[in-house]
Amino acid sequence: MLNYFMDDLYEAVIIGGGPAGLTAGIYLMRAGIRTVLLEKQLTGGAALNTEHIENYPGFPEGISGAELMGRMAEQARRLGLEIRELAGVASVTHENGLFETKTSDASYRSAGVIAAMGTEAAKMGIPGEDALLGRGVSYCATCDGMFFRGLEVAVVGGGDSALSEALTLANMASRVYLVHRRDRLRGQQMLQDRATKHEKIALLLNKAPLGINGVSQVESVTLRDTLTGESSELKVSGVFLYVGSRPQTAFLGDLVDRDEAGFIVTDEGLETRTHGLFAAGDARKKPLRQISTAVGDGALAAVSLEKLVLERR
Ligand code: NAP
Repeated sequence: MLNYFMDDLYEAVIIGGGPAGLTAGIYLMRAGIRTVLLEKQLTGGAALNTEHIENYPGFPEGISGAELMGRMAEQARRLGLEIRELAGVASVTHENGLFETKTSDASYRSAGVIAAMGTEAAKMGIPGEDALLGRGVSYCATCDGMFFRGLEVAVVGGGDSALSEALTLANMASRVYLVHRRDRLRGQQMLQDRATKHEKIALLLNKAPLGINGVSQVESVTLRDTLTGESSELKVSGVFLYVGSRPQTAFLGDLVDRDEAGFIVTDEGLETRTHGLFAAGDARKKPLRQISTAVGDGALAAVSLEKLVLERR
């Protein structure tokens, strides 16, 4: 039997404080499982940066990402969940039925782990992207949009992120060019309708960025017409890239199986190939990445982990 009163010994460690991790925390605390949540930045995850969320049930007028995530965190804290922020996980190992999760300055042993660290913006890998990061290149309209008040910007991508962030930027920029490599957008119809009808948003379809140009600040982006192969230069002060997202799972080593894009493969109870290690939320291989599905994942992973803990108590 494990002595859970030892300082670094928990029944559950949750990695990531987004909707999946916080929901798992709420369920585990209500089940009386000794749990710590480790969040590498601030509690709330990527949803914190979403200005207005309209498809999470219960909020007919919509709700800001910051408020929704603040409410989830408050609910978890009220139940007594221990949340450590700025606690990026460096490694997870598994030996003799016990996991050891290490951050840069602490180590946590536990019977189970829920990996709910979400995803990070995919890079395009084009010239100028890294050199001009923070000098006009950004992956977050809510964080950086205010620097482009009255200026022209480009948003790259045709998915939900590109569409919703283009709409956010249209509140500040004088013009938003939505640059997409195909002739059809990928994102939700409602967002497509709103973006295509917005007077400040101009659609540039069948265009792919080749490079981002500028000396100390973004001055333009070079576009290739994907039908004709011709290139052109679009003068903008900012370029916001939303070409997909990838989970950062290297710290899990070979404890998990991944699909070809790097997402963690789980079974029906959200367990990975390692008994006691679960994955929840956007980092998991799944057909739909939304706050609502992350919440469902968090609940299911927590209940699966609870079963394992109760068997070992
Ligand atoms: P996504 O759905 O994967 O869309 C990525 C977009 O980038 C696609 O339009 C893709 O073009 C384009 N793209 C990919 N690689 C490219 C390249 N090398 N050059 C040019 N364009 C490229 O990613 P996302 O929009 O970040 O969304 C990620 C997940 O989060 C999705 O499941 C989404 O539904 C969810 N999400 C939901 C909301 C919401 O519900 N409000 C908001 C944000 C995100 P193609 O279309 O040609 O493939």
